Amino acid sequence: MSSPLPLPNSGLRLRPELPLCQSDLPLDWYQEELKPYAEEYLALPDRRPETILPWLDAYVRPAQEHFGESLLLLAHFYMGGEIVKLVERYGGAVSDSYALALQAARHPEKKIIVESAVHFMAESVAILAAADQEIWITNPKAGCTMEMLAKDHHVLPIADQLFERYGDELTVVAYMNTSGRIKALAGRTGGAVCTSSNADRVLAWARRDGQKVLFVPDQHLGRNAATRLGLDPARWLTLPNPEVFPGAYPLERVSGGLAALDQAELLLWGSHCGVHSFFRPDHVTWWQERGWRVLVHPESPLEVVNAADGAGSTAYLWREVMEAPAGARLVIGTEGHFVTNAREQAALRGVQVMHLADIPEENLGLAGCGCATMSRNDPPHLAGLLDLLRRGAAPESNRVLAGDAVDEITGELDRLPEAERATLIAEASLSLERMIAVVEG
Ligand code: SF4
Repeated sequence: MSSPLPLPNSGLRLRPELPLCQSDLPLDWYQEELKPYAEEYLALPDRRPETILPWLDAYVRPAQEHFGESLLLLAHFYMGGEIVKLVERYGGAVSDSYALALQAARHPEKKIIVESAVHFMAESVAILAAADQEIWITNPKAGCTMEMLAKDHHVLPIADQLFERYGDELTVVAYMNTSGRIKALAGRTGGAVCTSSNADRVLAWARRDGQKVLFVPDQHLGRNAATRLGLDPARWLTLPNPEVFPGAYPLERVSGGLAALDQAELLLWGSHCGVHSFFRPDHVTWWQERGWRVLVHPESPLEVVNAADGAGSTAYLWREVMEAPAGARLVIGTEGHFVTNAREQAALRGVQVMHLADIPEENLGLAGCGCATMSRNDPPHLAGLLDLLRRGAAPESNRVLAGDAVDEITGELDRLPEAERATLIAEASLSLERMIAVVEG
């Protein structure tokens, strides 16, 4: 089993009477090597722990014995169904993307790190990992919809034009939800990575010499951070939605043209999260009018954050739920699986938790979805990858190296040559180290 980690236990409990509610994925989400595990899983008579755990144990335990102390399992809080509880049951750690990114660097004794989360999170671990640490993802097709609209082929042609126009006056701040290729762009332009808990501090730091900032990819987080800093909204400019303009476009085509671009202090990349951007201020007020305290994630639109009683990162939301006094009534506006798990744990302590979109009115409901792409990691992916790793037969596309780009539909992997990867690691590490210096310094 793994040695103790500095990450606190999430507090999630796997209760025997609850079914493992991970919805089964169609077989075409599985790579050929993993299909046999999925078929076995689908053939199990039910989804109860007493059925699934022995099946999982038969694959996971031998892998743990084989790799011993060198194996580390990680999962993000947004993972669907019970997978976060399973990862903790096997001695792994569950956290948000910031804490996960630091795990390889903080645990040099861990040589095989297997992550159940989206690809950019595993890649962040890989950027900070030592050469003798291998990072694996249970399903490489698990992408982040926000990052999928800020691929290097979207961002770099626009960034090149911006740097040509503004030179050193422009700095890139890359949210953690970006590929290593975009984090490297931030690193080589004097910028930094940020997370949802420190976006305002990193943005303030990036503007240190009156710099113009290109904030990639989440327009909502960028607006929320700018508001916290008191930046004038007249000086923000949102770049076109990459779904509408998927490739390079001349800068004249931005809203307001070049004059607006020159005036702007903050350029917001036009992407958003397919989960959080659906929340609306009237969702918030509906609950507040009924006496509930509403907390939301800052990937939600500015109007939603302004209406809420509090906003913060996944770690902040989890802490608020776990520390709420008995009798508290909390509404959480974030990813659906997270809220389901939070509700279950809070109920054990007499705290009520509802999802922001759990409103029984037709015109207000239907926005409480989970992160469907992250949930492409499920029990058969975990069992299958660990078994394949033990047998030395894991598909190379599940290995995560810094600079990897994966097509989330086909699974096709674009891997950088070694020399380019080394440059990317240096530049992306710089952007992560600058964030850590801003936050911890
Ligand atoms: S919840 Fe949204 S931002 Fe988070 S990983 Fe999923 S798609 Fe990306």
